[in-house]
Amino acid sequence: MSEHVNGWLAAYFDGELGDHRSQKVRAHLEECASCQEELATLTRLRQLLGENPEASGMLPAKQFASRVALHLSRRPSQPLWRRTATLLWGSIPAVLLTAWVFTQALFLVMTLSGIALNLGLWGPSELAITYQFSPVDALMVNLGISALIGLMILSWLASWWIRQQSNIAHQATE
Ligand SMILES: [Zn+2]
Repeated sequence: MSEHVNGWLAAYFDGELGDHRSQKVRAHLEECASCQEELATLTRLRQLLGENPEASGMLPAKQFASRVALHLSRRPSQPLWRRTATLLWGSIPAVLLTAWVFTQALFLVMTLSGIALNLGLWGPSELAITYQFSPVDALMVNLGISALIGLMILSWLASWWIRQQSNIAHQATE
C-alpha cells in the first residue's frame, strides 16, 4: 500500500493538484478505506459550511474556526449583568408610572378622608382638629410629585432617544 494522502485531500477535493499528484491520490484512495473516509468527511464538512470558492484553500478545520469567529463577532453574546441592566433600564418608565398612580390614589384617599373628617361626615370629630391637611396643600404637593415623576419619565425618554440615535449611527458605520 502507498503512503496515506491525508495532506493532499483538501487540495485534491478542490482540484488544485497536478495530474500526476491527483492520479497518485486517486490510486491510493481506491485501496485505502481510511483516506476514503477522510475524503467523505471533508466533503460533508464542505457541504455543511456552504463552500465558498475564495476560502477553498483553507483546511476544513481552519475554515470552520474562522466561520465560528465571524459568527461570534457578528452576534456578540451579552453578559448577564448587561442583560439585567437593560431589563432594569427598560422597566424604569413602568415603575415611575406605577409610583405615580400609587401617589394619586394615596392623595385621593387622604383628601377625601380629610374633607370627610372636617365636615364631620366620618371619624371622630377630635381628629378633624389634628388632621390639618388642607386639600389645597395636598393639591400643591401632588402637582409637585407629578411634575417630578413627569420630568424623570421625560429624561428617560430623552436618553432612550439618544441611545437609539447612537445605535443607528453605529449600524450605519458598520
Ligand atoms: Zn490512506
